[in-house]
Amino acid sequence: MLESALALLLIAIAIAVGWLLGRFQERKSSRQHNPPNRDYYHGLGSLIDNKADDAVESFIKALEVNTDTIPAYLALADLFRKKGEYDRAIEMHQTLLARTDLLRDDFLRIQLSLAKDYIAVGLLERAEALLQSIITDNPRDHQRHIARRQLAKLYENQQDWDQALKTALTLPDSKRTEIAHEMAQYACELALQAEDAAVEGLLKQALRLDPTCVRASLMWAEHRMSKYAWRGAVKHLKEVMSQDMKRVPETLPLLGQCFSELGNPDAYADYLERCANLCPSTSVFMEKARLIEWESGTTLAADYMVDALRKHPSLKGFDYLVALKLQESAPDERDRLKILKELTGQLIQSKPKYQCQQCGYSSQQLYWQCPSCKTWNSTHLIQGLEGE
Ligand SMILES: [Zn+2]
Repeated sequence: MLESALALLLIAIAIAVGWLLGRFQERKSSRQHNPPNRDYYHGLGSLIDNKADDAVESFIKALEVNTDTIPAYLALADLFRKKGEYDRAIEMHQTLLARTDLLRDDFLRIQLSLAKDYIAVGLLERAEALLQSIITDNPRDHQRHIARRQLAKLYENQQDWDQALKTALTLPDSKRTEIAHEMAQYACELALQAEDAAVEGLLKQALRLDPTCVRASLMWAEHRMSKYAWRGAVKHLKEVMSQDMKRVPETLPLLGQCFSELGNPDAYADYLERCANLCPSTSVFMEKARLIEWESGTTLAADYMVDALRKHPSLKGFDYLVALKLQESAPDERDRLKILKELTGQLIQSKPKYQCQQCGYSSQQLYWQCPSCKTWNSTHLIQGLEGE
């Protein structure tokens, strides 16, 4: 809210400065001394009184529409849209479009901005028709790319992943790179809905578009696991280490199952050792302790967890240590440890596991697209004492 008010004020100042410069140029060329109109003085007064909304209204009235002032109008409309004042933004764009003296470039810029209003307010069919007409209207490359990008985003909002991907694929390579991670997510969404035979092709496409797409590797591994192809699944799960080290904990439950099916706990222990060195996390230490417990008993597993917690303290690791201690506790200690375990368990349940790095939205489950800010791949496991 404060940011919007500040932005509104800055735009008002920008308009005032622009207006003054315009008048300065005008005077220089014509040597005329026309005083500013009433709206200008009213706007200046509102600006001094810190009434940004009033100031903007007055400057809009005072401002002549021409090629130089259109960016200021578009910035204002943008701000209205961001503040949720969609009607105002649409009205401003439509008023501008009704002018007959607009340059073609300005006309298309205003149309692109109007399409954003339509999307924001949910008039998706109207937005789609407008963007399609811009694309077929032979605009400059730059504007065509913006229109296609917006159109892909519109299909994404409608969860029409096929159209979103097809539209994004019409962009040239240089523009595609900027949104490759989003396109890979569209392919993953399609893979979720696809028939069994088409799944791997779509996941392959996702990884071709974005080789760092962890979701595609995880999905591919799960798909291989559903066919009992454990080695193939391990290959895809291990790829995550080079894609995004912070995502390695997501792979461990699946890797544990694969290595167990393959009857090769030593290979799993080696891999966990590598993870502990390269990307230490509580999940890695807990998984390693589980293997130690299975092979050498609870006491050694608990000793290992104590060491790990000294270097890498976390609530989750402590909870697991208490569980280990509970197993080997004497009867007189057991009740106290049970209470402690209950408390740590409740604390963990009450804390979110994931957080969006864009907007801070937190949740117990992993979302590939943040439900709050709609950013892709921004939700990660929380790090530190209350997380990994
Ligand atoms: Zn978010």
